[in-house]
Amino acid sequence: MSNYDVIIIGAGPGGIFAAYELVEKAPELKVAVFEAAIHWRRENAQSMERRLRAV
Ligand SMILES: Cc1cc2nc3c(=O)[nH]c(=O)nc-3n(C[C@H](O)[C@H](O)[C@H](O)COP(=O)(O)OP(=O)(O)OC[C@H]3O[C@@H](n4cnc5c(N)ncnc54)[C@H](O)[C@@H]3O)c2cc1C
Repeated sequence: MSNYDVIIIGAGPGGIFAAYELVEKAPELKVAVFEAAIHWRRENAQSMERRLRAV
């Protein structure tokens, strides 16, 4: 079983950007993001990839 410093529930914009900020500002933290939605992956991943590139 893995241990994490931060667990974020939900990979909507709030969750994914919280994870992004944590990774940027505190790279020593081990962050996990859990997402319940089965259909999240393709649409949100592509949208978020574009947004993260723009940051
Ligand atoms: C039809 C529609 C169109 C919209 N269009 C726009 C737009 O054009 N531009 C814009 O800026 N905003 C738009 N919005 C608003 C935007 O979608 C929300 O403001 C934004 O998604 C909120 O982000 P969030 O991370 O707070 O929540 P959410 O996006 O709701 O993300 C929460 C995530 O948590 C997951 N989750 C919930 N419970 C659990 C659990 N127990 N375990 C694991 N995962 C869980 C959910 O599956 C979801 O993926 C639109 C909203 C709707 C409904």
